[in-house]
Amino acid sequence: MIENLGKPIIIAGPCAAESMQQIEASIREVKAREIPIMRASIVKPRTENSWDGIGVEEGIPLLKRIKEAGLIPATEVLDIDEAKKVIDGVLGQDDGNIMLWIGARNQNHRFQRNLGRLATEDNRLIVGAKNQIWSGEAERHFKGIISHICDGGGLERSRLIMIHRGFCDRNTNGYRNTPDYDLALKIKDDEGVIMLLDPSHIGGTIEKVIEVTREGMTFERQGVIFDGLMIEIHPDRNAAKTDIKQQLTWREYDEHIEPIVKGGTIYETKSAAD
Ligand code: PEP
Ligand code: MN
Repeated sequence: MIENLGKPIIIAGPCAAESMQQIEASIREVKAREIPIMRASIVKPRTENSWDGIGVEEGIPLLKRIKEAGLIPATEVLDIDEAKKVIDGVLGQDDGNIMLWIGARNQNHRFQRNLGRLATEDNRLIVGAKNQIWSGEAERHFKGIISHICDGGGLERSRLIMIHRGFCDRNTNGYRNTPDYDLALKIKDDEGVIMLLDPSHIGGTIEKVIEVTREGMTFERQGVIFDGLMIEIHPDRNAAKTDIKQQLTWREYDEHIEPIVKGGTIYETKSAAD
């Protein structure tokens, strides 16, 4: 099923699911561009005590609507009970897929193993994981996430989507979270996982998100490149409840991002997931 997501793999949509109207507007844009997976997170870990997402109860109908529109819904979940509730609520006994990811600031080995196990038992589930926020012993911790999900949870490495979102404690060169493209691609190569780039959380501002997409999606490490993008796009940016500075409009996506991922790049000559 991961083989059918296209090359490069694009996951796009708002940072947070906010309302049915916002979801409907996003579905139209995502479908028009034949993007397979729509992100719209129903839980939002926050730095300060503030709105932390629409939640599981109200969020499930929104994710279900994405699924009924023929797209794969994708959300962060905070623990294994939440993961099970969301899968039951959105998919029930139906065919179809859902992507659940573990966020950068919520890496713990029990959850990693349990989510890996859940996906091993239910192949409708696509598991994603961000890298950890801290850069100390970056390679060990980044690979440790993979080890817990795959060795601990039993998931095949080729089914795991890792997402590079930069490191929070470097904050250099104007990045919100400083990337290490070389390390992320080394890990892809060493481990055989799928590696996406998250230019939204690395960039932090519109200009920088565009720059990071260009920089990261043309970065090559010994012939290894990123498999695709997870990017935040809001249908009505000024009304966004989270990450307002970094969410693109669909017009910005068409103008700046699509040409990088679709035309005249290494993706034309190289098969990203090989
Ligand atoms: C997100 O993808 O919206 C998010 C909260 O990202 P991260 O876990 O990388 O901070
Ligand atoms: Mn976000």
